[in-house]
Amino acid sequence: MKYVIDSKLESFLPVSQQSDFPIQNIPFGAGTWPSGEKVCLTRIGDTVINLSLIEKNDFFQHCGLKKHTFNQNTLNTFLSHKKPIWRAVRNTIAEIFSKGNKEFEKNIDFRKKIECHISKISIEMPINIGDYTDFYASKEHATNVGSMFRDPKNALLPNWSHLPVGYHGRSSTIFSTGKEIHRPNGQKKKPSDDFPFFGPSEKIDFELEVGFITGSGPRNGDCISVESAEDSIFGLVLLNDWSARDIQQWEYVPLGPFLAKNFASCISPWVVTLDALEPFRSNRPVQNDPNPLPYLQQSRIGANFNIELQVGIKPEGSEETIICESNFKYMYWSIAQQLAHHSINGCIINSGDLMGSGTISGPSKGSYGSMLEISWNGKEPIHLSDGTKRSFIEDNDTVILRGSAIKENLKIGFGECASKIIPSKSWKTR
Ligand code: CA
Repeated sequence: MKYVIDSKLESFLPVSQQSDFPIQNIPFGAGTWPSGEKVCLTRIGDTVINLSLIEKNDFFQHCGLKKHTFNQNTLNTFLSHKKPIWRAVRNTIAEIFSKGNKEFEKNIDFRKKIECHISKISIEMPINIGDYTDFYASKEHATNVGSMFRDPKNALLPNWSHLPVGYHGRSSTIFSTGKEIHRPNGQKKKPSDDFPFFGPSEKIDFELEVGFITGSGPRNGDCISVESAEDSIFGLVLLNDWSARDIQQWEYVPLGPFLAKNFASCISPWVVTLDALEPFRSNRPVQNDPNPLPYLQQSRIGANFNIELQVGIKPEGSEETIICESNFKYMYWSIAQQLAHHSINGCIINSGDLMGSGTISGPSKGSYGSMLEISWNGKEPIHLSDGTKRSFIEDNDTVILRGSAIKENLKIGFGECASKIIPSKSWKTR
């Protein structure tokens, strides 16, 4: 079955040149239709398409879907299928909306029912996330953080080059784009303080990440091999893994991240499939110092994806400043290696899990994926275009992540992952 939609294919639906969503993308999402029904969706340009109505009218009959797959408020039922079915659905959508399909193009009555402009739809969380795991797979980021928090001469801990380091997070506080997030309260203690004190975090930070969404892995405790791991990966989203650096620095010893990380994370609302990203494969950084153990050795060429990423800060009532430009191709450990490692001990992977890459930093200061690195833990504040300075994120700042893969005339993007920090809640009044 074909899985890359021809780069020359055009849709009869309008798609601007700058759009992240040509007919070659066909991402999947969920939201509330103007009728009030919660359904699964896709989009081409700014036209949102109701997949539940397409399913009800038997266009997906040959795909092998379970009943009512898209008449749901999340993509979880769709994710529980295998990759050939994901592909059959995507190919069918491309056929329906291609310029050559004159019969469908002229079926205005039906099209009015299933198409809607993006401005009239509430786009919501695409997935009911079961488990959330966050890796730490960018060598540049791990080196920068190790230099700041420990010792520049031994910035990477000995295990880092042998395995994709990760931790289990929480799925209960992961939101879709547009969320307002209260600045968290917590315990903080600087090295110079005798005792910890309690209050709002003064070091709120974003983390520029890409997350992958899983399909089902084996149920019997068998592991997922590195070579087959991508069969269990449905697609990617942008992920801002909000962090409170002052809370983190005090609490993280000896067991790692806890309340500094689980107050909020934000994802982009359209899941972009690996198939849509196939033309943008990129080689992983060389892994020969040391060689990974055999279960992590991946022979395929192009295990990473060349996705340009950027982060902007938009203060309240002011213009946005782009403060970071990075790329997903910098990841030292590929998504296949991350998933293979995750399941090597028998851990069951369910459909609808989210796995974060960890902060994606490139080699230079302009490509660092967190304020911790950009301002070097507050020592080197940056200037925004409205004349103000930032060491970390201030109240009423909106942080916007964007990502797209571009090659010749083809652009596959994610849309925006935007969230705003608002003042902390007073804990005494609750
Ligand atoms: Ca993270």
